[in-house]
Amino acid sequence: MRIRVGHLYPDYLNIYADRGNIAVLAQRAARRGHDLEVHAIGMGDPVPVGEIDLYYVGGGQDREQALVAHDMTRKAESLREAVERDAAFLAVCGGYQLLGRHYRDVAGNELPGVGILPLHTVAGQRRMIGDVLLDCTWAGETLAGFENHAGRTVLDVGAEPLGRVVSGFGNDGASGDEGCRYRKVYGTYLHGPLLPRNPWFADRVLGDALKHAGAPEELEPLPDELEQQAHAVSAARARSRGGRY
Ligand code: GLN
Repeated sequence: MRIRVGHLYPDYLNIYADRGNIAVLAQRAARRGHDLEVHAIGMGDPVPVGEIDLYYVGGGQDREQALVAHDMTRKAESLREAVERDAAFLAVCGGYQLLGRHYRDVAGNELPGVGILPLHTVAGQRRMIGDVLLDCTWAGETLAGFENHAGRTVLDVGAEPLGRVVSGFGNDGASGDEGCRYRKVYGTYLHGPLLPRNPWFADRVLGDALKHAGAPEELEPLPDELEQQAHAVSAARARSRGGRY
């Protein structure tokens, strides 16, 4: 099968090499005989609803977010339609914040979001940095990663987090929630090398994208020994932070 990825603002939102996640998806697709086709969706570009199976947006500093936020709101209606038609969507950090209703940055400027995820974000003074471990009970799995953000994200009542924080700060350092999930959309603060050390999650996102592309069957499992080791190292590092905050 051909899986079409729409990479939003690759020139602006790519902090911590967030685009490495796409390399993982491409490899894992190829090992099952599928092809990942990546299309950049930049400033002024339309969102080809129905022709993209997986949207991806990475992280960035407040400055980069301010550069793309208004353009992104012009794409909001199409992105919302794509999500309602069950396209997959992975949004990391700065990109995650912009999927909410708004992000108020450290300087107090309010950037509009696209309103796909039921949340808003306000930057605080102290940055929340370090290794993170999440319990994703909805999947019976854990996610290990790294966070670095000033934004405190508040989920609306009833919104589904991506996971509960075992170690780390998560959305706001207080609620114990990390990320947000809606339909096939996954938003998270976990950065850069998120998918290499969490192969189950890579396959979850890939599987959603494949379904949107019309694939009849499930993904074959891969051995993932190195990936599991990477997960264990990362999870241990997060645990050694000791507790939540
Ligand atoms: N600017 C946002 C924050 O600090 C996002 C940071 C990021 O993507 N690393 O909260």
